[in-house]
Amino acid sequence: MDAMTRADRARGNVTRPICLINDRPGTVAGDPVRQEVRGLMAVPEPHGGPTADKNRDWHWSEQGAKQVDAMLDQGGWREVAKAHAWYDDTDGDPPEKKTAYKLPHHELIDGKLKVVWRGVTHAMNALAGGRGGVDIPEKEKRAVWRHLARHYKQFDEEPPEAP
Ligand SMILES: [Zn+2]
Repeated sequence: MDAMTRADRARGNVTRPICLINDRPGTVAGDPVRQEVRGLMAVPEPHGGPTADKNRDWHWSEQGAKQVDAMLDQGGWREVAKAHAWYDDTDGDPPEKKTAYKLPHHELIDGKLKVVWRGVTHAMNALAGGRGGVDIPEKEKRAVWRHLARHYKQFDEEPPEAP
């Protein structure tokens, strides 16, 4: 049997088109769709909450480890997740590993998680590629931007353009 005959036969087979239709959603769900769902899980929903003084300095590189420990005491890893704009949920949601979290912008101040303006701009700059950028999946950047843009509004500021 030559190729032409096989193709003709396939075209004449009524179940063939149905098969293709059934296959298609499976193929999509196997990759981009699941990726998108995962992305939404790894980006904490945009939230408001109390804000810190707008002039508060941001020294996460020195204070971060201490901050995360305090958040863990206060509310466990969920509290840590709330302080960041992205985390890698491969090993749990929320993950129980400090290195899984990126783009911190909240601090525990007087026992409350507060949004720190300079932390927000720091995270937004990194998202836009500043200071070496941030290593997160390209397709999750928009959701991260949305999270941070909400905080811009809290401080009466206009966010930069979305990625
Ligand atoms: Zn936030």
